[in-house]
Amino acid sequence: VLSAPSGTGKTTICRMLKKKLPSLKFSVSHTTRKPRNEEKDGVDYYFIPLNDFEEKIECGDFLEWARVFEHFYGTAFESVDRLQRKGEDILIELDVQGAKSLRDLNYKAIFIFMLPPSLKDLKKRLKKRGTESEDIIRGRLEAGKKEIQQLNLYDYILTNIDTEETTENLISIIRAEKSRKERYKPPSSDLKALISNKENN
Ligand code: 5GP
Repeated sequence: VLSAPSGTGKTTICRMLKKKLPSLKFSVSHTTRKPRNEEKDGVDYYFIPLNDFEEKIECGDFLEWARVFEHFYGTAFESVDRLQRKGEDILIELDVQGAKSLRDLNYKAIFIFMLPPSLKDLKKRLKKRGTESEDIIRGRLEAGKKEIQQLNLYDYILTNIDTEETTENLISIIRAEKSRKERYKPPSSDLKALISNKENN
Protein backbone atom coordinates (compact mmCIF):
# COMPACT_ATOMS: atom_id res chain seq x y z
CA VAL A 1 0.00 0.00 0.00
CA LEU A 2 1.43 3.36 -1.01
CA SER A 3 0.11 6.68 0.26
CA ALA A 4 1.36 10.23 -0.05
CA PRO A 5 -0.10 13.68 0.51
CA SER A 6 -1.32 15.30 -2.70
CA GLY A 7 1.60 17.05 -4.43
CA THR A 8 4.33 14.73 -3.09
CA GLY A 9 5.01 13.29 -6.54
CA LYS A 10 3.42 9.87 -6.13
CA THR A 11 2.15 9.74 -9.71
CA THR A 12 5.65 10.35 -11.10
CA ILE A 13 7.16 7.73 -8.79
CA CYS A 14 4.51 5.19 -9.77
CA ARG A 15 5.15 5.87 -13.44
CA MET A 16 8.88 5.22 -12.92
CA LEU A 17 8.14 2.16 -10.81
CA LYS A 18 6.01 0.65 -13.59
CA LYS A 19 8.98 0.97 -15.95
CA LYS A 20 11.66 -0.25 -13.56
CA LEU A 21 9.69 -3.08 -11.98
CA PRO A 22 7.24 -4.34 -14.60
CA SER A 23 6.50 -7.47 -12.54
CA LEU A 24 4.70 -5.30 -9.99
CA LYS A 25 0.99 -5.01 -10.79
CA PHE A 26 -1.07 -1.97 -9.92
CA SER A 27 -4.55 -2.38 -8.52
CA VAL A 28 -6.96 -0.24 -10.57
CA SER A 29 -9.37 1.69 -8.33
CA HIS A 30 -12.85 2.94 -9.11
CA THR A 31 -13.48 6.67 -8.90
CA THR A 32 -16.27 9.15 -9.50
CA ARG A 33 -13.83 11.84 -10.67
CA LYS A 34 -13.40 12.66 -14.34
CA PRO A 35 -10.27 11.47 -16.17
CA ARG A 36 -7.37 13.93 -16.35
CA ASN A 37 -5.43 14.62 -19.57
CA GLU A 38 -3.98 11.28 -20.57
CA GLU A 39 -5.72 8.99 -18.12
CA LYS A 40 -7.39 5.91 -19.56
CA ASP A 41 -10.45 4.09 -18.27
CA GLY A 42 -9.54 0.65 -16.97
CA VAL A 43 -5.85 1.56 -16.82
CA ASP A 44 -5.51 4.50 -14.42
CA TYR A 45 -8.94 4.11 -12.85
CA TYR A 46 -12.36 2.76 -13.65
CA PHE A 47 -14.18 6.06 -14.07
CA ILE A 48 -17.79 5.51 -13.02
CA PRO A 49 -20.76 7.74 -12.21
CA LEU A 50 -21.73 8.36 -8.57
CA ASN A 51 -24.85 6.17 -8.91
CA ASP A 52 -22.78 3.18 -9.95
CA PHE A 53 -20.30 3.84 -7.16
CA GLU A 54 -23.09 3.90 -4.58
CA GLU A 55 -24.50 0.70 -5.98
CA LYS A 56 -21.12 -0.97 -5.64
CA ILE A 57 -20.92 0.16 -2.00
CA GLU A 58 -24.35 -1.35 -1.35
CA CYS A 59 -23.41 -4.62 -3.04
CA GLY A 60 -20.30 -4.86 -0.84
CA ASP A 61 -18.01 -4.82 -3.87
CA PHE A 62 -15.32 -2.71 -2.20
CA LEU A 63 -12.48 -3.89 -0.02
CA GLU A 64 -12.31 -0.24 1.06
CA TRP A 65 -13.60 3.07 -0.20
CA ALA A 66 -13.26 6.70 0.84
CA ARG A 67 -14.22 10.22 -0.09
CA VAL A 68 -11.05 12.07 -0.99
CA PHE A 69 -11.47 15.79 -1.56
CA GLU A 70 -14.68 16.05 -3.56
CA HIS A 71 -14.68 12.58 -5.13
CA PHE A 72 -15.12 8.95 -4.19
CA TYR A 73 -12.44 6.30 -4.59
CA GLY A 74 -12.67 2.59 -3.93
CA THR A 75 -10.70 -0.61 -4.29
CA ALA A 76 -12.93 -3.40 -5.56
CA PHE A 77 -12.31 -6.88 -4.16
CA GLU A 78 -12.27 -8.07 -7.75
CA SER A 79 -9.39 -5.72 -8.68
CA VAL A 80 -7.02 -7.17 -6.09
CA ASP A 81 -8.37 -10.73 -5.97
CA ARG A 82 -7.81 -11.26 -9.67
CA LEU A 83 -4.12 -10.36 -9.30
CA GLN A 84 -3.75 -12.18 -6.00
CA ARG A 85 -5.07 -15.41 -7.48
CA LYS A 86 -2.23 -15.25 -9.99
CA GLY A 87 0.26 -14.75 -7.15
CA GLU A 88 1.27 -11.29 -8.37
CA ASP A 89 2.90 -8.58 -6.27
CA ILE A 90 0.35 -5.79 -6.06
CA LEU A 91 0.68 -2.10 -5.41
CA ILE A 92 -2.44 -0.37 -4.09
CA GLU A 93 -2.43 3.42 -4.04
CA LEU A 94 -4.63 4.65 -1.22
CA ASP A 95 -5.19 7.79 0.73
CA VAL A 96 -4.66 7.59 4.50
CA GLN A 97 -8.33 6.73 5.14
CA GLY A 98 -8.00 3.73 2.82
CA ALA A 99 -4.77 2.62 4.52
CA LYS A 100 -6.50 2.91 7.90
CA SER A 101 -9.42 0.78 6.66
CA LEU A 102 -7.04 -1.96 5.57
CA ARG A 103 -5.14 -1.77 8.87
CA ASP A 104 -8.44 -2.12 10.72
CA LEU A 105 -9.22 -5.18 8.61
CA ASN A 106 -5.82 -6.59 9.53
CA TYR A 107 -5.11 -6.75 5.83
CA LYS A 108 -1.78 -8.41 5.07
CA ALA A 109 0.14 -5.68 3.32
CA ILE A 110 3.20 -3.51 3.65
CA PHE A 111 2.24 0.10 4.26
CA ILE A 112 4.51 2.74 2.77
CA PHE A 113 4.11 6.48 3.17
CA MET A 114 5.84 9.01 0.98
CA LEU A 115 6.59 12.46 2.31
CA PRO A 116 7.78 15.70 0.77
CA PRO A 117 11.05 17.10 2.18
CA SER A 118 9.13 19.96 3.83
CA LEU A 119 5.70 21.57 3.98
CA LYS A 120 7.17 24.55 2.17
CA ASP A 121 8.22 22.26 -0.63
CA LEU A 122 4.79 20.60 -0.73
CA LYS A 123 3.12 24.00 -1.11
CA LYS A 124 5.54 24.90 -3.89
CA ARG A 125 4.81 21.65 -5.74
CA LEU A 126 1.06 22.07 -5.37
CA LYS A 127 1.32 25.60 -6.80
CA LYS A 128 3.59 24.51 -9.63
CA ARG A 129 0.94 22.14 -10.96
CA GLY A 130 -1.02 25.26 -11.85
CA THR A 131 -4.25 23.31 -12.22
CA GLU A 132 -5.86 24.30 -8.93
CA SER A 133 -7.06 27.54 -7.39
CA GLU A 134 -5.51 29.10 -4.24
CA ASP A 135 -8.40 27.77 -2.17
CA ILE A 136 -7.97 24.21 -3.38
CA ILE A 137 -4.20 24.39 -2.84
CA ARG A 138 -4.76 25.58 0.73
CA GLY A 139 -7.27 22.74 1.28
CA ARG A 140 -4.87 20.11 -0.08
CA LEU A 141 -2.03 21.43 2.09
CA GLU A 142 -4.19 21.23 5.21
CA ALA A 143 -5.36 17.73 4.25
CA GLY A 144 -1.72 16.76 3.66
CA LYS A 145 -0.73 17.96 7.12
CA LYS A 146 -3.46 15.83 8.70
CA GLU A 147 -2.33 12.82 6.67
CA ILE A 148 1.28 13.28 7.75
CA GLN A 149 0.13 13.25 11.37
CA GLN A 150 -1.15 9.70 10.81
CA LEU A 151 2.23 8.39 9.75
CA ASN A 152 2.14 5.80 12.53
CA LEU A 153 -0.17 3.68 10.40
CA TYR A 154 2.73 2.92 8.10
CA ASP A 155 5.66 0.50 8.12
CA TYR A 156 8.01 2.55 5.95
CA ILE A 157 8.50 6.26 5.37
CA LEU A 158 10.15 7.63 2.23
CA THR A 159 11.11 11.24 1.69
CA ASN A 160 10.80 12.20 -1.93
CA ILE A 161 13.74 14.51 -2.59
CA ASP A 162 14.97 12.95 -5.80
CA THR A 163 12.43 10.92 -7.83
CA GLU A 164 15.05 8.48 -9.15
CA GLU A 165 16.36 7.75 -5.66
CA THR A 166 12.87 7.49 -4.16
CA THR A 167 11.88 4.95 -6.81
CA GLU A 168 15.02 2.93 -6.07
CA ASN A 169 14.26 3.05 -2.34
CA LEU A 170 10.74 1.86 -2.98
CA ILE A 171 12.07 -1.04 -5.04
CA SER A 172 14.52 -1.88 -2.23
CA ILE A 173 11.65 -2.09 0.25
CA ILE A 174 9.68 -4.37 -2.07
CA ARG A 175 12.69 -6.63 -2.65
CA ALA A 176 13.59 -6.81 1.03
CA GLU A 177 10.01 -7.63 1.96
CA LYS A 178 9.93 -10.39 -0.65
CA SER A 179 13.02 -11.92 0.99
CA ARG A 180 11.44 -12.19 4.44
CA LYS A 181 11.83 -15.69 5.75
CA GLU A 182 8.08 -16.14 6.23
CA ARG A 183 7.63 -15.56 2.49
CA TYR A 184 10.33 -18.05 1.50
CA LYS A 185 9.14 -20.75 -0.82
CA PRO A 186 11.81 -23.39 -1.52
CA PRO A 187 12.38 -23.47 -5.28
CA SER A 188 13.27 -27.17 -5.32
CA SER A 189 11.92 -30.36 -3.79
CA ASP A 190 15.24 -31.26 -2.11
CA LEU A 191 15.41 -27.92 -0.29
CA LYS A 192 11.74 -28.21 0.59
CA ALA A 193 12.31 -31.65 2.08
CA LEU A 194 15.42 -30.55 3.96
CA ILE A 195 13.73 -27.51 5.45
CA SER A 196 10.51 -29.24 6.46
CA ASN A 197 12.61 -32.03 7.99
CA LYS A 198 14.53 -29.51 10.06
CA GLU A 199 11.31 -27.91 11.22
CA ASN A 200 10.09 -31.33 12.38
CA ASN A 201 13.22 -32.00 14.43
P1 5GP B 1 -6.09 11.39 -7.64
O1 5GP B 1 -7.44 11.97 -7.87
O2 5GP B 1 -5.03 12.45 -7.53
O3 5GP B 1 -5.74 10.33 -8.63
O4 5GP B 1 -6.11 10.66 -6.21
C1 5GP B 1 -6.49 11.35 -5.06
C2 5GP B 1 -6.18 10.49 -3.85
O5 5GP B 1 -7.02 9.33 -3.82
C3 5GP B 1 -4.76 9.96 -3.78
O6 5GP B 1 -4.29 10.14 -2.44
C4 5GP B 1 -4.90 8.50 -4.09
O7 5GP B 1 -3.89 7.72 -3.49
C5 5GP B 1 -6.23 8.21 -3.48
N1 5GP B 1 -6.83 6.98 -4.01
C6 5GP B 1 -6.75 6.46 -5.26
N2 5GP B 1 -7.43 5.32 -5.36
C7 5GP B 1 -7.95 5.09 -4.13
C8 5GP B 1 -8.75 4.04 -3.60
O8 5GP B 1 -9.14 3.07 -4.25
N3 5GP B 1 -9.10 4.16 -2.29
C9 5GP B 1 -8.70 5.19 -1.50
N4 5GP B 1 -9.07 5.18 -0.23
N5 5GP B 1 -7.95 6.19 -1.98
C10 5GP B 1 -7.58 6.14 -3.28
